[in-house]
Amino acid sequence: MDDKLIKLVADFKRPSPRPYRAPPPPPKPPKRRAGGGVGRVVLGVCVLILGVGALGWDLLTPEPEETPFPIATDLPPAQVPEEPKVAEAPAPEKSDPPPPSPSLDVEQKPAPSEAAPAPKVVAEPKEPPPAVEPEPPKAQPEPAPVAPKPVPKPVIATGKDAPVWLRNAAAMPTGSDGPMIAIVIDDLGVDKKRTERVIALKQPLTLSFLPYATELPRQTEAARKAGHELMVHVPMEPLGAKNDPGPGGLKASGGAQATLKQLRWDLSRFDAYVGINNHMGSKFTADKTAMTPVIEELKARGLLFLDSRTIGDTTGASLAQALGVPNASRDVFLDNEPNSAAIGARLGDLEAVARRTGMAIAIGHPHDATIDALTIWLQTLPAKGLVQVPLTAIVKHRLEQGETPPNGG
Ligand SMILES: [Zn+2]
Repeated sequence: MDDKLIKLVADFKRPSPRPYRAPPPPPKPPKRRAGGGVGRVVLGVCVLILGVGALGWDLLTPEPEETPFPIATDLPPAQVPEEPKVAEAPAPEKSDPPPPSPSLDVEQKPAPSEAAPAPKVVAEPKEPPPAVEPEPPKAQPEPAPVAPKPVPKPVIATGKDAPVWLRNAAAMPTGSDGPMIAIVIDDLGVDKKRTERVIALKQPLTLSFLPYATELPRQTEAARKAGHELMVHVPMEPLGAKNDPGPGGLKASGGAQATLKQLRWDLSRFDAYVGINNHMGSKFTADKTAMTPVIEELKARGLLFLDSRTIGDTTGASLAQALGVPNASRDVFLDNEPNSAAIGARLGDLEAVARRTGMAIAIGHPHDATIDALTIWLQTLPAKGLVQVPLTAIVKHRLEQGETPPNGG
């Protein structure tokens, strides 16, 4: 027992030859630097391996410097993959006005704005990229959705305190409560013969006269006596040089003073109207800055605004709504094609809108085909359960119901 123990101790004390050890297997990338306690050779090998590993990692990792810029998370998915290449394209401050469209009613949305330019992220060369996916960029706060403005509900006074548009309104037919149809005929006054024909149509119509016609007091008085109500058909700048609104058209770039000067002249040409609608104006009505003094003047005078909707992105009715000005928008143009077949089809459309929504507004013009069609069609409404009303009846009804005009935005 003692001998064995002594031998064991002796063996333990005897210096043993140092066995050769192979360097540890190469660490897998990405590894942190090898710990202390290893010889210089091993350390050198490790550094070399780390270097090679880092190089290989660069080749394998998919282009970390092209990590999508944070704003890309807000983009519609279709745009994301294409964006990193582009290093320019500043976000447009203001989009150009949309080009004129052959179809006047097509909504023209501005093109979606480009992503803001992303400064190119340069990868740090010191460390290999982390094995995990880069943390998703912090989402940018989304622009707060524009809260719908509270719709000011105009007070409808009656009697002597009633606003001008109601005091000048044509009488509402009594005794029937079917879907309402308002027919507005504009461009009146210049063609005296056809203006007379329109005045002779079954009342009540809403008749809108061009301010530069020369016999307005006589014509408008005749129209009022026949049971129609009146509007001023204010010329406004259209898109396209070919279209001429006639003398005194309001210019989108004219400035508020020039606009008001012309508008006040337009409104001085005859009396007893209920409001205005735009003659042409596809450029002017799309310009909120240009339209603002017009709507404010109507508000000050207690008049209504009928948006003819000569372009899809008109601001007229929505601006009037925001400023508390009674307003409405045209549903159907009767005679863009002034022939009896097309006009008949549009009258059918008008009836359909009225049945669907309870009311409908048409705009027509003093063409013979339009007058001929209306002469017959207006007689058919009672049998169809439809009620011919002046425009003011629809505006008043919607105000009383607290409704927003369906085309008002
Ligand atoms: Zn017109």
